[in-house]
Amino acid sequence: MRQNLDPAKRGTVTRRTVLASLGLGLGLAGCAALAPETRGRAPGIRSPGPAAGPTLTPRPQPAAVPPPAAFRQPVPVLARVAVPPGTLSALPGEGSLLAWTVDDGSNSEVVARYIRFAADTGIRLTFFVTGSYGAWTDNAESLRSLVASGQIQLANHTWSHADLSALPDGEVTAELGRNHDFLTDTFGVDARPYFRPPYGRHNGRVDALAADLGYTAPTLWYGSLSDSGLIGEQQLLEFADAWFLPQHIVIGHLNFEPVTNVFPQLRAMLVNRGLTTVTLNDVFTSASHP
Ligand SMILES: [Zn+2]
Repeated sequence: MRQNLDPAKRGTVTRRTVLASLGLGLGLAGCAALAPETRGRAPGIRSPGPAAGPTLTPRPQPAAVPPPAAFRQPVPVLARVAVPPGTLSALPGEGSLLAWTVDDGSNSEVVARYIRFAADTGIRLTFFVTGSYGAWTDNAESLRSLVASGQIQLANHTWSHADLSALPDGEVTAELGRNHDFLTDTFGVDARPYFRPPYGRHNGRVDALAADLGYTAPTLWYGSLSDSGLIGEQQLLEFADAWFLPQHIVIGHLNFEPVTNVFPQLRAMLVNRGLTTVTLNDVFTSASHP
């Protein structure tokens, strides 16, 4: 893996390199091949703003930084802020938080491994669930306690991974509504207000229809592991190197195994960078999660 963890260099050279490599095409396959979800940066997003945001309450520091193998992500104690209106693509303010979000779930074993990874490490994740994939029923039992504790948050990624911008109004509502009901019935949670439009495709009409259901926060991202299709482990680590940065919302996918083979390296990256993983509900208040 890349050893250069200097933040200044990471933010310039590496990011440009990654974006340039994306421009060459990556031979992606799968549900979102060559779609905006494969890009490092979501369309039409804003930069992480300087606005006041949640901050970590200082905790007593251990005498020495434990090695990654012994490190468990803390449960953050945050001053939460109201989720801002409009499209969400970064966490507000200054800090050391990372919202690691993962989507779809076309591979049941990958979903299972992510759940074990979270259970073993304390890492906090937001899953954008596409309920029509059998993985969500296959793994419901092992997921339920992590969801109940809030360590893994479930959010709405539509029932069948539809491009909402291409559907008539009634089908947009049905895609979000059916998935909402599935999440409530299966896990006993209210996924609102966060929905991620498949392929990042949404518009004012889609957002208004979603808001009518209480899904008022279209959630995109500020950096991608670019694994909606199959990529190699080394590539994946390079994307993580480029985007595992403070106050970023990063998107990954529950579709292909390579990411599960580099969990130790990804975890070490969090430790080395002093990043604390958070769910969206850890950071934001909303009507459903005051
Ligand atoms: Zn997706």
